[in-house]
Amino acid sequence: MRDARELLEQAASVRESLKKVMVEVMVKPGNQVQLSKRAGYSQGLVSEAIKELGRLGVVDRSRGDKVRLGEMRGVAVGIDIGFNHTSVVARPLGHAAEEATKRRSQPGVNLGMAQLLPTVLAMVEETVADTEHDMGEVVSAGLAVPRMVDSRTGRFTEPVLPPWDPADDPAALLSQALSVRVAVDNDANLGALAEQVYGSDEPVEHIVYVKASTGVGAGIMLGPNLVRGQRGMAGELGHLAVDLNGRMCLCGGRGCLDTMVGADALLAKVRQSHRGTNRENPDSLADLIARAKDDDAVCRRVLNDAGRVLGFGLAQLCNLLNPHRIVIGGELAAAGDMVLGPCDYELRRHALHGATSEPLDFELGLSALSPHAEAHGALVLGLRSWTSN
Ligand SMILES: [Zn+2]
Repeated sequence: MRDARELLEQAASVRESLKKVMVEVMVKPGNQVQLSKRAGYSQGLVSEAIKELGRLGVVDRSRGDKVRLGEMRGVAVGIDIGFNHTSVVARPLGHAAEEATKRRSQPGVNLGMAQLLPTVLAMVEETVADTEHDMGEVVSAGLAVPRMVDSRTGRFTEPVLPPWDPADDPAALLSQALSVRVAVDNDANLGALAEQVYGSDEPVEHIVYVKASTGVGAGIMLGPNLVRGQRGMAGELGHLAVDLNGRMCLCGGRGCLDTMVGADALLAKVRQSHRGTNRENPDSLADLIARAKDDDAVCRRVLNDAGRVLGFGLAQLCNLLNPHRIVIGGELAAAGDMVLGPCDYELRRHALHGATSEPLDFELGLSALSPHAEAHGALVLGLRSWTSN
């Protein structure tokens, strides 16, 4: 059976369009139209590339209208390092995203990157072993981090908020330890990438992924392009001011969305309500959500209010970008309708009517890939790093 890593290394000398279409088929099978949308090439160019890849036996067109990968060994890896979680997915090339093996565990970068590294490496090895591949068959890895990343350098954009340090270079650290290339980007950006590719059969053209956990960030895909801005600062939704007289934020701003719907803000609201009582306070966002699901009135209300404020913020984003779909992921997504209902109501109340109403098929929903969306996106980024753009 063909070795995918060898094939990708040899492909360094072939023309870019051929390599890009091959990588897109590795990302997900697709028909000519879908591959053309994802690669950002004309259908004619994609059709030529498919024919040539078919002749070389790299792709298989014999099963339905979708172009699939021919028989080959190789596995792609995606890693998501959050503040207090690490998530890893591994997917043999040619397998569907649902068939990826997954691991998620508690420690995150709050431990410090050097202390976390052995845990991440062990998780990658276990996740790859679950696919019945060995580490030598890993073709690429991608890394999602909850910080702004300058895509030109792969380094953090300053100011770098704690617990990361501007000198940290987690992609280089992992690349050295795994002996494989590791591409890095902001976690919300990668959530958007994953939702565009794997969230539905047809790629959604304009999609925004909202990662709501410790903080809030947005990944914006307009067509095949991730909107990163000049220095990777686009989509910093958590620092959108939604209350001119609100609380000060870690960023130096006032009334930022993070100060109202970030995990710390929600936990503080419950503590405030419990003040002077002997009621137990939730110790994490997951705990707060669990209590709300157990019908704790305070926790439910805090989540409802968070949904409303988030919807107000997303309405501004709708008016600016007019997306087809907004997907909510991150830990807050586990609250389901307790957040989604009020969020949808406020979003439609404040957004321009034409941006969110019939007959336009605007959708607001929860991430079906959660809690691994960012890791799936990192996997896509890693594969795409074999091409030049
Ligand atoms: Zn802020």
